[in-house]
Amino acid sequence: MPNIPHNLQTIGAEIAECCKPVNRAFGHVQLLAVSKRHGVDAIKQAYDAGQRAFGENYVQELVEKAQALKSLDIEWHFIGALQSNKSKDIADIADWVHTIDRLKIARRLSEQRPAELPPLNVCLQLNVNNEESKSGVGLSELEALAEAVSKLPNLKLRGLMAIPEATHDEATQRANFALVAAAKDTLNAKGYELDTLSMGMSSDMPAAIAEGATIVRIGTAIFGART
Ligand SMILES: *Cc1c(COP(=O)(O)O)cnc(C)c1O
Repeated sequence: MPNIPHNLQTIGAEIAECCKPVNRAFGHVQLLAVSKRHGVDAIKQAYDAGQRAFGENYVQELVEKAQALKSLDIEWHFIGALQSNKSKDIADIADWVHTIDRLKIARRLSEQRPAELPPLNVCLQLNVNNEESKSGVGLSELEALAEAVSKLPNLKLRGLMAIPEATHDEATQRANFALVAAAKDTLNAKGYELDTLSMGMSSDMPAAIAEGATIVRIGTAIFGART
């Protein structure tokens, strides 16, 4: 059994270490605990250790966990590929969606967001390296999508999310994350007010933080290997 409270502490310390050399405040990098394919007991252990933001990739799993844990003050982030026919559940439950890559799904989420809930926080997923196998909007279509999404009444456009090409070369990791950060700066120069960069996982967290990540998404290093 992984020691979840201990792992959370270790990662918190690692985030702090990553912030130092680049003069960033520790409090500006949020740890998103990616709990996909781990049970509600694991989530409760992390919650009891003070973790509040959890990320899930599968709609049905999120629905079941949110139901089982509804007495807890959890912030749910949906970080998986979202199909239109499942958007209603996400609009009902999630606080954040990181993976908006087309207008159709954004429109549905806005229409389906219950009136009594605050606007759904969303990030646009950027396909930085234009990889065929990955979802995400290309750089050339990003601004048009941002413009359309920012007009939807029940969504709040917060920033960009990316999963760059897998590589162990830190210079390449940084160059890719820098592209995402630059895309956010370009949009902000045009009047957007994006405050979020969701980027960095266990294998590339230092590079992501160095380039301005505000949310890092970590699963295995907290909860252990997925079955
Ligand atoms: C699973 C997942 C993570 C976490 O990955 P780990 O390797 O378990 O840390 C982060 N982001 C996304 C989008 C994921 O699907």
